[in-house]
Amino acid sequence: MFNAVQMPADRQWLLSLPDQAWGTEETIAALVRCIHRVNEGHPDSPPAIIGSISAEHGGALPPHKSHRTGRDADVHFYLTRRGSRWYEPATADNLDRPRTWALLRAIVTETDVEYVLIDRSVQALLEQYALSVESDSAWVADLFHGSGEHPNPLVKHIPGHTGHMHIRFFSPIAQERGRRAYDRLVEQGHVKLEHREVKYTIEPGDTLSEIAQRHHTSVEEIVRRNDLQGTAIIAGSQLVLYETLELRGARDRVAVPRRRLPRSSSAVASSDPRPAEPPSGSDAMVQAALLDLERSLDEPR
Ligand SMILES: [Zn+2]
Repeated sequence: MFNAVQMPADRQWLLSLPDQAWGTEETIAALVRCIHRVNEGHPDSPPAIIGSISAEHGGALPPHKSHRTGRDADVHFYLTRRGSRWYEPATADNLDRPRTWALLRAIVTETDVEYVLIDRSVQALLEQYALSVESDSAWVADLFHGSGEHPNPLVKHIPGHTGHMHIRFFSPIAQERGRRAYDRLVEQGHVKLEHREVKYTIEPGDTLSEIAQRHHTSVEEIVRRNDLQGTAIIAGSQLVLYETLELRGARDRVAVPRRRLPRSSSAVASSDPRPAEPPSGSDAMVQAALLDLERSLDEPR
């Protein structure tokens, strides 16, 4: 992760792990906006407790499997008892439903979110509350269970997430910047790719350059490794290839799905259509971000 932003200090939230409170600019902005939204509706709220987001430069963050790219954030459910411990499980007795639902609602309706992970037991409490205050019950059901339009629910079950929700945001600008800078990052060694040796039997019609391209290696590498005298190859004979394992998804264009909005805010939805891909207007922002990235790549580290 390049040019990460640390979650700022604010009386509306507590950072339980400040060293792990780094995210993309988009993630941080989304979290700030959503917690502010809770406090607008409930001015006397206790601070939200924020756990891991990512390390300053991203990468593995044990014991988490994710939290590597500044797009994941753990936020404790609001509880009705003050001074509760971090990771204290939420139950029917202590879950602050209005505030926790306000937070989840803001995440869903006001940010680009891929999914939210919450234990089923807490989901049930939140869904029940949401149905009691929302006019669009089909929308609530769609969020928690999916629908014909969305086979996958946005809020997903994960065992053990009874104390906090894990939010995975999209960060279209950061993701697009990473995609465009990928080759340069690999070239400069900021992204280290793994390799593996494979045996390959040459098929009729194969050329070395096609084989090299398919296996993310080079003609020179194949010639050197197999002691070839030239680039002529014979079908049926075997080559040892030193394949480069590409980072999964590194070259994929980011597609941000349309936000799932309740029917009552359809007016907002239609005046703010969400394209399936980053809007062309954001191209300038991506370009500016790329310049930033170029600069930080040029700086000695
Ligand atoms: Zn998490």
